[in-house]
Amino acid sequence: MSKSVLVVGEVSADGVNKATLECISEAKRAGADSIEVVLFGNGAKEQAGSAGKAGAGTVHYVEEDSYSLARRVATVAGAAEGKKLVLMSATTHGKEVAGVLAARLKAAMGCECIEVKFGDDGQPRVLRPKFAGKVRARVKLNGDVTVATLRPNAVAVEFDGADASVNDLALAGEADGVTLTDSSAKAASGDEVDLSEASVVVSGGRGLKGPENFHLIDELAKPLGAAVGASRMVVDAGWKEHRYQVGQTGRVVTPDLYVAVGISGAIQHLVGMQNSGCIVAINNDPGAPIFKVADYGIVEDLFEAAPKLAEKLKN
Ligand SMILES: Cc1cc2nc3c(=O)[nH]c(=O)nc-3n(C[C@H](O)[C@H](O)[C@H](O)COP(=O)(O)OP(=O)(O)OC[C@H]3O[C@@H](n4cnc5c(N)ncnc54)[C@H](O)[C@@H]3O)c2cc1C
Repeated sequence: MSKSVLVVGEVSADGVNKATLECISEAKRAGADSIEVVLFGNGAKEQAGSAGKAGAGTVHYVEEDSYSLARRVATVAGAAEGKKLVLMSATTHGKEVAGVLAARLKAAMGCECIEVKFGDDGQPRVLRPKFAGKVRARVKLNGDVTVATLRPNAVAVEFDGADASVNDLALAGEADGVTLTDSSAKAASGDEVDLSEASVVVSGGRGLKGPENFHLIDELAKPLGAAVGASRMVVDAGWKEHRYQVGQTGRVVTPDLYVAVGISGAIQHLVGMQNSGCIVAINNDPGAPIFKVADYGIVEDLFEAAPKLAEKLKN
């Protein structure tokens, strides 16, 4: 019974993304008998071989002139033939591809998993947190082919493999009968640090009073090389796009350092960041729930504290 896994991965300037390496390592721990990777992004060709160190046997790199979700999905669907599980990280890109791919393949799908294992019957079982992390469900994915996304930073990367064999995979044409609008597929641009990959995150909340004050968050993030995040109130108010949202209905992050500025710490926000290594909170209300999970609390007006801290960090 085949326990073959196809990982859908991406590269950035630093090499194969950590989130992709996590998927490859998890596929290995899951008991996969073969692991192939379809790798997208600038530099995929040059970086492809290095994915073998995390356990990939074959890496198919894909060269593209421009980003097209429909063409990526069609390419992955072709490579998924004969595979039991298609696994990718629950990044913005992974979530997009997984949803469309599962619909196209009519495959069972597990979202935001924190563990993957093959059962004795050859079908994958995934572990998924539910109800804001209060319970974990072990879900069996039935069918010839299945799809799952793995929560970023939830599993370890293990390097014990050799270089993978590398193959040039042609980008497929548009998927027949499928029309997609990439309106929400905007990737982090320029020097923006990706929220899921970041080791430091600085997030702003409603305490900032308005979008015109969000520069205080950017100024704290810059010297720390941090990604910027936001609470849902900020996103609902239209100050930042949804891709910045941390929490139950946004991104789950586990950086080494999380700085919450003007965020109250509602449970739906906490589930998205409470497993961070060190949490620092700035809030002028000493009773704010964020202080219950914070390692360091600054009870002060953020309009005073944030610029002072940014200045110190800059120096
Ligand atoms: C189904 C569901 C899903 C949700 N999903 C999410 C989610 O994914 N992410 C998320 O964040 N929320 C989510 N929420 C919303 C959540 O319940 C809270 O409403 C939200 O997190 C509050 O955002 P906030 O902390 O920015 O705003 P507020 O709760 O209004 O807090 C603002 C904080 O700023 C402080 N403050 C004000 N002025 C200053 C100042 N000058 N200096 C310092 N501090 C100041 C205040 O003391 C306060 O603690 C969800 C809610 C529901 C029902």
